[in-house]
Amino acid sequence: MSDRIAFLGLGAIGTPMAAHLARRGPLAVWNRTAARAVEFAARYGALAAATPREAVVGADVVLTCLPTSREVDALLDGPDGLLAGLRRGALFLDCTSGDPAGSRRIHARLADHGVAFADAPVSGGTNGAEAGILTVMVGADAATFERARPILGAFGGRIEHVGPVGAGDALKAMNNALLAVNILAVGEGLVSLAKAGVEPRTALGVINASSGRSFVSEVLVPERVLTGLWPRTFRLALLAKDVGIAVDLLEQTGVDGPMLARAGELLAAARATLGEKADYLEPIRLTETRAGVEIRG
Ligand code: NDP
Repeated sequence: MSDRIAFLGLGAIGTPMAAHLARRGPLAVWNRTAARAVEFAARYGALAAATPREAVVGADVVLTCLPTSREVDALLDGPDGLLAGLRRGALFLDCTSGDPAGSRRIHARLADHGVAFADAPVSGGTNGAEAGILTVMVGADAATFERARPILGAFGGRIEHVGPVGAGDALKAMNNALLAVNILAVGEGLVSLAKAGVEPRTALGVINASSGRSFVSEVLVPERVLTGLWPRTFRLALLAKDVGIAVDLLEQTGVDGPMLARAGELLAAARATLGEKADYLEPIRLTETRAGVEIRG
C-alpha cells in the first residue's frame, strides 16, 4: 500500500511539488490561506485539511514547503499544530530553503516525538518542479535518507544525500548566494556595456560563447529580462533570505566573505526598496534605473 502523505505549504513551488505527490497516492494538503488548499484538492483529488494537525493525523510522511525554518517550527505548536497530530515513526521532510540551526532545532523537537526528520530543500525553480526534475539536497542520517528518497523522487530528478541534518540547508543557501552574485554582476555588466554602446543581446551572445557565462547569462536574463516578461516565480525576499543564511554560514565557519556579504547587503536594500512581492531578478531593474539605461526590450 502506498504511503499516506501530507503536504503543507501550497506556494509557488510547493503547489507543483504536491501535484506530483497527489498523482502517486493518498494526499492531504494544508495551506495557511485555506482557499488554495480547497482549490488544489478539487483539482488533484486530494483532501483539504482545516488545520496542520488534521493534515498529518494518520500520515506516514509529512512534507513542508514554507518561507523559512521559523514558520515550520511555529507550525509544530498548539492544539492544531503538527506535534498534536504526528504519529510515532512518521517521516518529516522539510523542503523549505531553511537554515541549518533551525532545521537542527526542528529535528530535535521531532525526535522527542519519535518522528524522523530530513531537511530537503530543492533547486530548479517552478519549471523544474512542474517537470518533476528538481535537485533535492538532503540533510539526514543514512537510514532517513533511504526512506526519503522514493518520496522525493516524485518531484526530484537528482536526489543527493549531502550530510547530516542542516547540510541540505547550508548547501542550498550557498547555491542561491552564488545565483545572487551572478544576477547582480550580470545586471551591472550588461547595463555598463549598454552605456558603452554594446547592445545587450550582442553582449550576451559573446559572453555565452566565452568564459564569463552562467545560468543567469544563458537562461534567466535572455528569457526573463531582455524579453521584459519578468515572470514572478520566486520572490526576491526569499533569495535575500537565502543569501543571509549563506553569510551567517561564512561567519559561523570563520571564513572571511566580503563578496557574499556585499551581495547580501545589496539584496537586502533591493528588498526594502521593491517590497516583499518583487521578483528575484528585479535588482537588475534598480541597476538600470540608477544608470538611466534599460537593457530590456
Ligand atoms: P511562496 O511565497 O510562493 O509561498 C509560501 C508558502 O508558505 C505559502 O503556502 C504561504 O501560505 C505559506 N506561509 C507563509 N507564511 C506562513 C506562515 N506564517 N504559516 C504558515 N504558512 C505560511 O514561496 P515559494 O513557494 O516560492 O517558496 C517556498 C520555499 O521554497 C522557500 O523557502 C523558498 O526559498 C523555496 N524555494 C522556492 C523556489 C521558487 O522558485 N519559488 C525555488 C527553490 C526553493 P499563503 O498561501 O497563506 O500565503
